[in-house]
Amino acid sequence: MYVSTRGSADKLTAAAAIAQGIAPDGGLFVPEAIPSVDKAALTGLLPLSYQERAAAILALFLPDYTQAELNSCIAGAYGGAKFTSPAVAPVTRVTDDMFALELWHGPTSAFKDMALQLLPRLLSCALNKIDEQAELVILVATSGDTGKAALEGFKDVEQTRVMVFYPEDGVSQIQRLQMITQEGSNLTVFAVKGNFDDAQTGVKHIFNDSAFNSTLAQRGFKLSSANSINWGRLVPQIVYYFSAYADLVQGKHLTLGSPVNFVVPTGNFGNILAGYYAKCMGLPVNKLICASNSNNVLTDFLTTGVYNRNRQFYKTHSPSMDILISSNLERLLYHMGNNDPAQVAHWMHELSTKGEYRVSPEQLQAIQAIFPSGWVDDAETAATIGRIHKDYGYSLDPHTAVAWKVAEDYRRKSGDTTPQVIVSTASPFKFNETVLAALTENDGVKAKSEFAALNQLSELTGLPIPPALAELESKPVRHTAVCGKHAMPDVVKATLHITE
Ligand SMILES: *Cc1c(COP(=O)(O)O)cnc(C)c1O
Repeated sequence: MYVSTRGSADKLTAAAAIAQGIAPDGGLFVPEAIPSVDKAALTGLLPLSYQERAAAILALFLPDYTQAELNSCIAGAYGGAKFTSPAVAPVTRVTDDMFALELWHGPTSAFKDMALQLLPRLLSCALNKIDEQAELVILVATSGDTGKAALEGFKDVEQTRVMVFYPEDGVSQIQRLQMITQEGSNLTVFAVKGNFDDAQTGVKHIFNDSAFNSTLAQRGFKLSSANSINWGRLVPQIVYYFSAYADLVQGKHLTLGSPVNFVVPTGNFGNILAGYYAKCMGLPVNKLICASNSNNVLTDFLTTGVYNRNRQFYKTHSPSMDILISSNLERLLYHMGNNDPAQVAHWMHELSTKGEYRVSPEQLQAIQAIFPSGWVDDAETAATIGRIHKDYGYSLDPHTAVAWKVAEDYRRKSGDTTPQVIVSTASPFKFNETVLAALTENDGVKAKSEFAALNQLSELTGLPIPPALAELESKPVRHTAVCGKHAMPDVVKATLHITE
């Protein structure tokens, strides 16, 4: 069963928790007990495919889904030609003891696909199980990556509609094309006249407008969200930690039972938290190293025990980590704070009223024992992309480069020689301008089109352009709607054919 981190909501089954998204007391759903995987079970995972490993791990967390339901969700998410690598999430050996877990072989070339390919299927199955008749309307405000991944994931999924709002002038050419050429019968994309905050504020207002929600309910619609507070987005991510470990053992880089470190480029704390669940389940993980960019609120928290969001916000070259409130940290605080929901509720109240909270020295010590941390700025990120390409012929996107540098710094400072797996969250082609500038050590690339940049990057790295990015240039544009930031409720109604 699933409970709220803030303790004042009813326990729910996994399906109900996934259908609901956020708990009614404002908390996040967490498993009441974390299942364990012993050595025999881990051995059993070794020869399996990614899909089979996923079936085994997900069944432990989603006992109310039948194995047939899980298998069908998994086949839809990771099967066929959805992922360009048959391994789905392959591990590449870059140096003797540094590996890259590549989570970007999915349809949008970023790690969000790992979860957003599966979540819609788990959700639509959940609606069936709890006998929910309403059609879910998923509203997404995006600064680029999440919007496209949600569109791909929810495309033609029964009983769901998706509306994505992106800032008209706030996304890259590739990101815009990815969204406005999207196919599917249940989705709409809008350019908002404003920035990302305007789009996000607009979506939040709609969620909190009870009159609007009841108008929708009368017509058989219910609002929902696809962001990483939903347990259904977190649970798919636990799988690839197990899968990476199994691949390392299969490849004879590790003996079964010996430890690894994972180094994770972190924003909302969802990815690294999935690694924490894997560790709690018994996966031999030594450290989970939290890597940040100049928005280093997590590095400060993990160093001092004070989480303080009152600080300058930087726009960096690793934009998916530009975040000041890491929502999923709440789940870690629950598990590492003796499962005390009153304490979590207090911290979250402090965060929303004062913008800051502090954990006790004992709690900080316990957290630090698992989560070393570090951060790097844009200049060091670019230098790392250039150096790793030169030394090892391996291309990093800016997010992964942040993690790479933090991994090196950690090893040097700590003397910890445990093999390291760098969790690689985006294809270098997705952030082609930054990568190209880093590889060529000049900024001249800015003048060219992004398609010229893709070609140049392909020549420089010898890597093929991901087919879904290459074909964007010739795909018909299907979504041209633009809306004012105050018109978002009206366009939602109009899209659902609600007239009054
Ligand atoms: C979303 C994202 C991240 C951050 O992941 P969290 O789960 O939010 O910590 C890192 N890199 C890329 C490329 C992303 O899209």
